[in-house]
Amino acid sequence: LQMRAAVQTELASRASGAGFEAFCLGTPHGSWAPTPKAPVLSPNDGTQVGTVQWATKQDVAMAIETAHAAWPYWEARPVTERADMLRRAADALEAQMPAYLHLLAIEAGKTYADGVAEVREAVDFLRYYAHQAEHLMAPDHLPGPTGETNVLTARGRGVWVCISPWNFPLAIFAGQVAAALVTGNSVIAKPAEQTPLVAHAFVKLMYEAGVPQDALYCLPGAGEVGAALTQHPLTAGVAFTGSTQVAKLIAATLATKPGPLAPLIAETGGINAMIVDSTALPEQVIDAVVMSAFRSAGQRCSALRVLCVQDDIADELIAGIGGALEVLRMGHPADAATDVGPIIDREALERLQNYERELSSRGKAVGGAPKLPDGALAAGHFFAPVAYELPSLADVKEEVFGPVLHIVRYKAKALDALMDQINALGYGLTLGVQTRITARAEAIARKLRVGNVYVNRSMIGAVVGVQPFGGQGLSGTGPKAGGPHYLTRFVTEQTVTINTAAAGG
Ligand code: NAD
Repeated sequence: LQMRAAVQTELASRASGAGFEAFCLGTPHGSWAPTPKAPVLSPNDGTQVGTVQWATKQDVAMAIETAHAAWPYWEARPVTERADMLRRAADALEAQMPAYLHLLAIEAGKTYADGVAEVREAVDFLRYYAHQAEHLMAPDHLPGPTGETNVLTARGRGVWVCISPWNFPLAIFAGQVAAALVTGNSVIAKPAEQTPLVAHAFVKLMYEAGVPQDALYCLPGAGEVGAALTQHPLTAGVAFTGSTQVAKLIAATLATKPGPLAPLIAETGGINAMIVDSTALPEQVIDAVVMSAFRSAGQRCSALRVLCVQDDIADELIAGIGGALEVLRMGHPADAATDVGPIIDREALERLQNYERELSSRGKAVGGAPKLPDGALAAGHFFAPVAYELPSLADVKEEVFGPVLHIVRYKAKALDALMDQINALGYGLTLGVQTRITARAEAIARKLRVGNVYVNRSMIGAVVGVQPFGGQGLSGTGPKAGGPHYLTRFVTEQTVTINTAAAGG
């Protein structure tokens, strides 16, 4: 309650918010190219909440060259120093939570609950990667013959490019940046074009925590800036979270660009299913479905997209979901009563509206739509959550990034065929299972090629160090964010063998 009051004060004191700014951050050789200030508009009501100066191609080149020159010095610092900077940043972020909740609400349309979870996740990433790096980077003295020492050490690779999406503009951005930095790489971060302000604030906080400005750069920009970064010969690796389509473009660029063989860590989209059998508890299923499909207005990569219900209980469940849909409250994300906030921008809103028009021609609408906000929010990008029943899973072909739920029925004897169809979608991010038969849930988890399985609960959960998160197939390359192996892809290993008999003093 105290935190909520602090956010309300923050909101009231910066009602216009027009004071927020984003521009290139870091220490260039020369000065950043002068670019005009563009407005950053809130998805809640279309008001201006800040300004952004986009990076140019010259800025990209200058940042990478400077980051590359700084890299050996940054890498030479003890890992404990770098880890302590992350810990200081975590403490500062925790202390400044109300300010970040405010920014997340006005720039990204995050509700209070989503904002708190996001700041918490960012704090957890910072502390977890600090701890993991201290272990990973410690020299490993390997057993060998007498008269020889063999030491294996993890080393930074060079300049890492971190490209992030708008839907977790703080947590994913902070996680990528922290992982790359603490493992001895210098970093160029490119936030999503929809959310430059929160990224800018976080990078400044990292400087205050001790990260030198020539080791960490933030370049606001759209896809072209990301593309220029990935093409650069000095880029040594890319951490990307976003759509599968863009991940494939980046993979193709890295395969042919001059310079080092640069690895890509990609965390991408999903067409996530939930399988509900006839033993499931209806109320539990309805709660899990509403949370998984409509929280954050469905703008989560892990969100439920296709609910597969065994036909024996389908009528009851579908009616329950329809009823739950109607009472969802849409509104300003900072309003405590809001369940569903806005869609990130007009383009995404129009994509959803077009998709729904098409879906309504081939599916059967379930329940009634919640009421769209009006008054001051009439200019916001609101889309009322919907559910449609479809004849088959074959009718779902793409990731629809919003509060749109598809529902299909299946017969008990067709469960295997259903699972084959889910695997055939090619994505492999999250899966929900609702059943009281644990052995069945385990068998389903074994058969389905997905990264995270949630049984008898919502599909929301990526607690750092507890539920390492990430997909396979079209959903990502791994290793999982917030897991014990994530940092391993950011480093290269060096083995030093010394003939000690011949070594002098
Ligand atoms: P997007 O792919 O459109 O953009 C992601 C980032 O890539 C942005 O910063 C964008 O500017 C940049 N970009 C665009 N074109 C580029 C190019 N040619 N080269 C380099 N960079 C380029 O995705 P989005 O709309 O920002 O985010 C939504 C997507 O992200 C959804 O598909 C969602 O499922 C996915 N996502 C996945 C995870 C996960 O952990 N698996 C988490 C969050 C979001």
